[in-house]
Amino acid sequence: MQEVLKQIGQRQRFLLTSHARPDGDAVGSALACCQVLRAMGKDAEVVLRDGVPRIYQPLPFADKVITAERVNGKYEAAIILECDSIQRTRLEGLEDRFLISIDHHVSGRPFAHVNWIDPHAVATAEMVYKLAREVHVSISPEIATCLYTAVLADTGSFMFEGTNEHTFALARELVLAGADPARCARSIYFGHSTAKMRLLGAALSNLHREGPLAWIWATREQMDHVGAKEEDCEGLVNYVLSIQEVEVAIFFRELPDRRFRVSLRSKGQLDVAAVAEQFGGGGHKCASGCSVDGPLSIAVAKVVAQLRVHPSVQ
Ligand code: 5GP
Repeated sequence: MQEVLKQIGQRQRFLLTSHARPDGDAVGSALACCQVLRAMGKDAEVVLRDGVPRIYQPLPFADKVITAERVNGKYEAAIILECDSIQRTRLEGLEDRFLISIDHHVSGRPFAHVNWIDPHAVATAEMVYKLAREVHVSISPEIATCLYTAVLADTGSFMFEGTNEHTFALARELVLAGADPARCARSIYFGHSTAKMRLLGAALSNLHREGPLAWIWATREQMDHVGAKEEDCEGLVNYVLSIQEVEVAIFFRELPDRRFRVSLRSKGQLDVAAVAEQFGGGGHKCASGCSVDGPLSIAVAKVVAQLRVHPSVQ
């Protein structure tokens, strides 16, 4: 963190970004970090390849986020949050810039000029909170709202492995600073589109279960049929994990190039980050992702085969 602060201290203009198809921690951490930098007297902007998903649009300053495929501005550094490579931002124009990475993934790779990676942090938001405290930036209700939402999303509403007393201590601090837990939860859990619910119905009607493994998928055709967007696929995998006997849940989403995005979730006995890494992806022990070639039957067979060999699912 000290090296990150040193490099921030030497510069004025910052770009903040995260991975494409941003989740709650990606959006919340970038928005909060942007506000912290501004409170430090810096110029900062958030640029996201895919913009802000519908359920995070009520967050403070989400309407100021720039959606772009390429970074053009005269930024002195790019701070990449919750993302373990330039490629995952899917932004062009980052390669020749000074890069700072702030990430909490176990599989986090040191790809930037300065890399602050803390796998013990429950969310990247926790690291942004620490950074703000270190430089004595007061946590405004707006910063608190972004950070609380990020923590809520990345801990699966304080349910995932890794949630501990520090998580609740952090949440307490953020609520004391002005985050409204009910309002934050309402946006995330009661802000879905009708298309998402229809897609969920279609995906669940094809649920496949093999002992402690279960999987669903969404094809382009199904998505087009109900008018669903990519972001409507977010979180569908959790419905599969909610089955009592299921230890590992998988969701396959067909991409425009006919490859498949895979979301893996575990209840804790099996490290799904290790499985995702075998396919060039990554993430956490209980939540990870990767991409595999189609067609669907081959994609399913490949991923399920890697899971079947694990003793905890036999
Ligand atoms: P999701 O299933 O929601 O797309 O991803 C779950 C977790 O795995 C997230 O923390 C995400 O950052 C991580 N993840 C998903 N896809 C990839 C990937 O292709 N590479 C890496 N390194 N991490 C991923």
